[in-house]
Amino acid sequence: MPTHTIIHFKQDCISCGACAAITPEFWVMDEQGLAHLKEAQPVNNHWERSIQTEEERARNQEAADCCPVNIIQVRKVEK
Ligand code: SF4
Repeated sequence: MPTHTIIHFKQDCISCGACAAITPEFWVMDEQGLAHLKEAQPVNNHWERSIQTEEERARNQEAADCCPVNIIQVRKVEK
């Protein structure tokens, strides 16, 4: 059961590389120089993926906290 959803407004990425440097197990820089959340799917105007564990939530919150343009969000899944 997913506990949180990671939301990424990729089109607003300024390519600073912070998320990929801090949490490389989730975030990489793609061939266009934009951050990409591994295993994410495009949904409307953003990308997203579900996560399951507290460790995954904490790691992605670190990525969100380091993003200078606040385009990474960690949202709790309502049961
Ligand atoms: S920290 Fe934010 S702006 Fe920087 S590469 Fe990651 S998503 Fe893009």
